[in-house]
Amino acid sequence: MKKFTVIARPDEISEELKHRTIADLKMAGYEYNPDWPDYCFVIGGDGTFIYAVHSILRKHKKNLDKVLFYGIHTGTLGFYTDYLDTEYEEFMETFLSGAYEITTYPLLQVEYDTHKHNAINEIRVENSARTQLIDVYVNGEKFETFRGTGLCVCTQLGSTAYNRSLGGAVIQEGLDFIELTEMAGIHHSKYRSLEAPIILKGDTELEFRSPSFHDAIIGCDADVYRIDEVESIRIHICQTASVHMIRGRKVSYFDRLKSLF
Ligand code: NAP
Repeated sequence: MKKFTVIARPDEISEELKHRTIADLKMAGYEYNPDWPDYCFVIGGDGTFIYAVHSILRKHKKNLDKVLFYGIHTGTLGFYTDYLDTEYEEFMETFLSGAYEITTYPLLQVEYDTHKHNAINEIRVENSARTQLIDVYVNGEKFETFRGTGLCVCTQLGSTAYNRSLGGAVIQEGLDFIELTEMAGIHHSKYRSLEAPIILKGDTELEFRSPSFHDAIIGCDADVYRIDEVESIRIHICQTASVHMIRGRKVSYFDRLKSLF
């Protein structure tokens, strides 16, 4: 019997839809099993979707590839969802009829010392306490020395999130790129780095080195880790896991984008 879990934003509408989803899926012969799900239904917004991916990653990192995520938005249109809460019937019918496509999205991975973490939107190295110096290497080649608050590396899907607030370019869906954007870089006669966001091929390996990451953190979407004693950080697309999403109704990318502003 196929198993499912439901992760909902803690608000009244999302919680109500969660109970309805559980009841309808059980009625259709699926087993509610939050520990070993084949399907993860996500009810909320893009932020809830990211939370759901991280909670499955935390529980069963090796099994992320076996889970299909399916989202319904209880706000405006999102990038991780194709339905609004008012379209619940269509959302459920599409799933039960199997008339959907599965799209795979890459995860970013950061590695330092013995640690590995993943992100679906972006990985940030930031220091709000002092000026952070970072030597940036692209595929092993020294590119620049950055000074400022930090650097953000995002996926195509994450380009509309934090990256956009930093002045990064939005990357259209279907393009296999990552993007590196500065967070409050210092640019004057003594210090200079690229300043503009740079879009890189999806298989690029970035390395950030610094004489000191004291007081700096690594942000992986909403998760944060201290890196005081770390000397080198490598960021690339994860080769061992990705996120598989059920995509039902076709929604124009530009309609999603328009709903952002
Ligand atoms: P959150 O409250 O879950 O999300 C913050 C906002 O970012 C929400 O409005 C969320 O949309 C939106 N969002 C998330 N992913 C998006 C995407 N790929 N494209 C467009 N909008 C997106 O915040 P959180 O849990 O702290 O962090 C999760 C993510 O939020 C981070 O990965 C980061 O990208 C983003 N964030 C952005 C800023 C900023 O722009 N200054 C600050 C903090 C966090 P929904 O309303 O649909 O959930």
